[in-house]
Amino acid sequence: RHYNFCAGPAALPQAVLERAQRELLDYQGHGLSIMEMSHRSDEFVAIAEKAEADLRELLQLPDNYRVLFLQGGASLQFAMLPMNLLGNGGSANFIHTGIWGKKAIAEARHLGFDYYVAASSEANGQTAVPRPSALKLSDQAAYLHYTANETIGGLEFDYTPEAVRPDGVEVPLVCDMSSSILAAPLDVSKFGIIYAGAQKNIGPAGLTLVIVRDDLLDQACKAIPSLFDYKAMAEGGSMVNTPPTYAWYLAGLVFQWLKADIGGLDAMGAINARKAAKLYAAIDTSGLYSNPIVAANRSRMNVPFVLADSRLDADFLSEANVAGLLNLKGHRSVGGMRASLYNAVPEDAVDTLIAFMADFEQRRG
Ligand code: PLP
Repeated sequence: RHYNFCAGPAALPQAVLERAQRELLDYQGHGLSIMEMSHRSDEFVAIAEKAEADLRELLQLPDNYRVLFLQGGASLQFAMLPMNLLGNGGSANFIHTGIWGKKAIAEARHLGFDYYVAASSEANGQTAVPRPSALKLSDQAAYLHYTANETIGGLEFDYTPEAVRPDGVEVPLVCDMSSSILAAPLDVSKFGIIYAGAQKNIGPAGLTLVIVRDDLLDQACKAIPSLFDYKAMAEGGSMVNTPPTYAWYLAGLVFQWLKADIGGLDAMGAINARKAAKLYAAIDTSGLYSNPIVAANRSRMNVPFVLADSRLDADFLSEANVAGLLNLKGHRSVGGMRASLYNAVPEDAVDTLIAFMADFEQRRG
């Protein structure tokens, strides 16, 4: 297997894939694969409950939060959030720091909800997140949404915003953590809702995690499909219909790996900090590579960089491929390179990438 720097679907831990392979045909002597099991069977319910328990332990989740295992990707949450939170009116407020936040705004607008951009980093070309003092919620704000880590731009918040309206009322803070959840310890109690597509730090694509404070379960618009309704999903144990059982099982294996093999989120955070710091240091000390993001907001998970001469891009990528360093091409909307350093990307992968970059620069820079 090669080193995979894909932004998503992303690398999975080798140990998780090996265990899934061992259990693929005959799950623990039951004579069938998990993929072939009823989601209501005792075996699968045990798998689902263990996954949630392990996640709760990793995040030290307070009891008043519910965990939903949904489908539709993080993108469906762009629609489900206003549907679930604006039943009593009010405005969806946003901090806009990049392409994913912009899509969340566009979806609220598309559905006809009232929305307001409370702060934006457009003026600085999305190279720094707005400072806390720049945040101005609207009078009607019902919640504040932001993207903790913009996966494409490689721009990450270095603080947790305070969702306080001009009249002093605190509203729920809603966060898209698709590309940063489980990367480091997290104080969930600051948030009303956290959501994430699974395909980066959680598991395979097809599963979406939503962590919702239970007082937010009764604010939905009346006419929404039950599959979009957080309350219905919470009451139905995320099994209102057939859930993505195999993805849920694999996410559970990732949670076990984080606990047992890594040692929890403190340990994961330390590893991730080291990985990112050495790659940024290599970029900053080179004459060929550069990254435009201010130091405090550089993403730990997604490191975009450009080569001083873009005519070298194609050779860089093809030589990287030959060296077993896969998926370093930047997002199609921005070009350049991007190395995603999610939890399952080992430190060795980063060391190998840095050595490759130095060698390429020496030969071609
Ligand atoms: N939000 C962020 C921060 C993302 O990185 C992505 C996908 O990469 C999405 C949302 C969209 O996720 P999905 O493809 O699961 O809808």
